[in-house]
This record gives sequence, C-alpha cells and structure tokens, in this order.
Amino acid sequence: MSKGLLIVISSPSGGGKGTILKELFKRNENLRMSVSATTRAPRPGEEHGVHYFFISKEEFQKNIEDGAMLEYASYISNFYGTPKAPVEAWLNEGKDVILEIEVQGGRQIKQVAPDCVSLFVLPPSLEVLENRLRGRGTETDEVILKRLSAAREEIQCVKDYDYTVINDTVEQAVLDIEAIITAEKHRVSRDKTIVERILNHA
Ligand code: ADP
Ligand code: 5GP
Repeated sequence: MSKGLLIVISSPSGGGKGTILKELFKRNENLRMSVSATTRAPRPGEEHGVHYFFISKEEFQKNIEDGAMLEYASYISNFYGTPKAPVEAWLNEGKDVILEIEVQGGRQIKQVAPDCVSLFVLPPSLEVLENRLRGRGTETDEVILKRLSAAREEIQCVKDYDYTVINDTVEQAVLDIEAIITAEKHRVSRDKTIVERILNHA
C-alpha cells in the first residue's frame, strides 16, 4: 500500500481554512485532520481533543522535549504544535493527512517532510479578510488588529508554498483543493513501482 499524502494548509487568520476544510472533509473519506496542541484558551464551542488539545505551557514544553511534536510555533503569544504520532500512523495506513498550521510551522514541515504538498489560502483582498474576521466575532478588537498585522507578514510567505487557493467562494476553493490533491497523487515521483506492477500483473 502506498503512503498517504501530507498536506499543509496555511492562511492568515480569517482566511477561511476552517470553513473550507469542513466542506472538504464532508466530501473526502480518505482525509484525516491532525488535531494540534495549543496553549491558547478555547473559544466558545471548541472541544478538547476535537478542535485542539488545550494544554498548559509546561505540558507543551514537555512535549517538545520528549520529541513528540512534528513542528511547533509561537503565534501571537501562544504556542501551537502538531503531535507527531497520529500523523505518522495515518500516513502509514495510506490516509491523506491535513495539517492546518501557520507559516513558521509550514516551513518546518517542508524541511522534515519535503514530499508534502503545501497550499496557501488567500482572501480575495485584505478588506474582505478584515470583514470576515470581524464577522466571525470570536476575537476582541485588539486581537483582530494583531491578526491583521500578522496577515500582512504571512501573505509574503506565499512564495514558499506549492499552490495558492483564493477563497472567494467556499465551493470553488474546495474544488481547487480537490484538484490539487488529485494531481499530486498522480505524480510519477510518488509511485516509483507503477511500471513494474503493471508489467508483472498476471
Ligand atoms: P480561519 O479558519 O482561516 O481562521 P474561518 O474559516 O473561521 O477562517 O473563516 C473566517 C470567517 O469568514 C468565518 O466567519 C467564515 O464563516 C467566513 N468565511 C470563510 N470563507 C468564506 C467565504 N468564501 N465567503 C464568505 N464568508 C466566508
Ligand atoms: P487559531 O487561534 O485561530 O485557532 O489559530 C491561529 C493560527 O495558528 C492559525 O494560523 C492556525 O493555522 C495556526 N495553527 C493551528 N494549529 C497549529 C499547529 O499545530 N502548528 C502551527 N505551527 N500552527 C498552528
């Protein structure tokens, strides 16, 4: 069985990752979502073990020291990181795994797993981004301003990614991501035994 595809998805906060991925998961059974660990407080409705593992700074530090994180980063005064074990297990089972992470983490994943595919979700404009972030109503004005300022920096990192996806409509963004995943899975470099298998098939 071939290994699954490791897919990194980044965007500025409010770019629409959560919304797009919810739709994508409804339609694709072979996908698995990595649940990150974070030191930030849960938002209303967020559940431990479902949206994040909400842990203390001490616990986070211990996970790093134990080598249990595939990557981690500090983002606006909190730590976020990807637990290594579930990702490795799913990839070995042939599942495609999505990491919804920010740009510092994306860079680390490219180093430890160069065969991953990385996507950057962009809003149609910064004005739309601000309206969506405000419309979500989950952050204070102060945090929204920090996230918008971080967004200007993060968007510069698009050059380090393999693909961009513009989140104008959710439907089109999901179709674009499905097309990228399909194309990546058909790369000759990902299946070096294909010719042998076809020639030797009885
Ligand atoms: P992220 O997970 O990247 O921080 P969200 O998925 O929470 O972003 O999206 C931010 C806000 O924008 C949410 O309120 C969401 O409903 C809204 N939104 C996302 N994508 C679209 C879209 N294509 N059109 C209109 N609103 C959108
Ligand atoms: P939020 O607080 O809005 O849930 O997430 C803030 C940022 O942290 C988002 O850009 C999100 O993609 C990123 N993030 C979430 N989990 C991880 C993770 O495990 N590692 C890294 N590096 N970033 C993460």
